[in-house]
Amino acid sequence: MDAEQFKKEKWLYRALPVVASVVLLWAFVLVQKLTGNNQIGVFAAFTSAFLVMWRWKVAGIRLESWTCPGCGRRLSRSVSWSFPPKKCPNCGELTPR
Ligand SMILES: [Zn+2]
Repeated sequence: MDAEQFKKEKWLYRALPVVASVVLLWAFVLVQKLTGNNQIGVFAAFTSAFLVMWRWKVAGIRLESWTCPGCGRRLSRSVSWSFPPKKCPNCGELTPR
């Protein structure tokens, strides 16, 4: 993965939880209005939000697989407060931004 891809995945990782909550609401409203059926609306809302969160999980996994150009180690979600970190937790090398 190159720096451009890292930036893209980082952007997705931050944006997708917001997107998921918007999708959850609007998918329900839209489908409920189209079908007049609450159950189908709930089903559509959770299915589409699930797909968005699945992509979010993929972004997290891809970010974790980033190897630091400074020390060659991978970023780990467990060692930093905010993920992805601005700096490598091992050697302090800045991550792409
Ligand atoms: Zn490093």
